[in-house]
Amino acid sequence: MSHVRVEVDILIVGAGPVGLFGAYYAGARGLSVAVVDSLSQVGGQVTAMYPEKQIYDIAGLPAVTGRELVKGLFAQANQYEPTYLLGREAQQLAAGLAGHMVVTTSDGTRITCGAVVLTGGIGTFTPRTLPAGEEFLGRGLDYFVPDSSGYAGKDVLVVGGGDSAIDWCLMLEPLAASMTLVHRREAFRAHEASVARVRASGVQVITNAEVTVLEGGATVEKAVVQVKGGEARTLPCHKVVAALGFTANLGPLREWGLALNDNRHIVVDSAMRTNLPGVFSAGDITDYDGKVRLIAVGFGEAATAVNNAAVHIDPGVQLFPGHSTDIPHAVPVLA
Ligand SMILES: Cc1cc2nc3c(=O)[nH]c(=O)nc-3n(C[C@H](O)[C@H](O)[C@H](O)COP(=O)(O)OP(=O)(O)OC[C@H]3O[C@@H](n4cnc5c(N)ncnc54)[C@H](O)[C@@H]3O)c2cc1C
Repeated sequence: MSHVRVEVDILIVGAGPVGLFGAYYAGARGLSVAVVDSLSQVGGQVTAMYPEKQIYDIAGLPAVTGRELVKGLFAQANQYEPTYLLGREAQQLAAGLAGHMVVTTSDGTRITCGAVVLTGGIGTFTPRTLPAGEEFLGRGLDYFVPDSSGYAGKDVLVVGGGDSAIDWCLMLEPLAASMTLVHRREAFRAHEASVARVRASGVQVITNAEVTVLEGGATVEKAVVQVKGGEARTLPCHKVVAALGFTANLGPLREWGLALNDNRHIVVDSAMRTNLPGVFSAGDITDYDGKVRLIAVGFGEAATAVNNAAVHIDPGVQLFPGHSTDIPHAVPVLA
């Protein structure tokens, strides 16, 4: 079987906010770039966990939703047409010819590059599954809601008691034909004001209850909800969002020989270099004395990592990229 081969100057592993900003910077420096992510959408934790929440600590944007921030980062990166390799995990690193590196992904794609920038955040996300309805995954059952359009006019059931479950309810309730929230406890582990908004909305909230069975044919049609100590109820539903949380870990990056702290963070120096030549890192995944895990910090680290990676690829170029005000840019389109 022949696999896809990609050749770029820089490979960015992780399409979270920090990886997207790194992709912009690489493009602005005239470097070709590919971005790999195991998720099928860009935006990392922001898209997966809190697209509708307002973020208040992005420099220059007093308040921006996660979705708007990712849209802006995506448009900014896309000015330079990076190659996105989504839905596949970066798994192996090997030495290539002439000082290049070759990274192989879970689907066998081989990316040859001059430098790697690891922006893997908290690692590969694995959603906690809904045992009652695994066979309906992708046929009505989802673990994320990157795009709300498929929920319009549908009977929707959200399962979970955390911020994501509450946020999905608030986002989808205005579009859905009906919206039910099922949580196995009485109390929610979510922002109080948001829980109050859900309770005051048209969402039917069923607590102390579990979804025990999903029924249907090609897609989900009904859910059986068992209330503790009560009767089972059958609800019509076309769409189920199981917001039961994620586990995340470095996964295959652990085998690359990177110096790690706590077995989950990559140790970097002030140039964002790891202990492996040509491998740089930025964002939540990195560690050094005084590290603060915030998007604002990750943006600066991405610029440092990419500019140092540029010098690694061609030691003849300047570390300082010049000011963006002096570099011609097309005006990004916010699609
Ligand atoms: C509920 C919540 C609210 C938050 N609010 C704020 C806030 O107000 N302000 C703030 O600054 N921060 C906030 N944060 C933290 C912020 O989201 C993170 O700091 C930020 O997402 C880190 O960005 P990143 O790009 O480094 O990593 P991530 O967003 O974690 O993205 C990393 C990406 O890498 C991918 N990946 C990992 N390993 C691999 C691999 N081997 N192969 C392929 N892909 C891989 C993952 O799938 C993921 O998409 C919040 C976080 C949460 C959960």
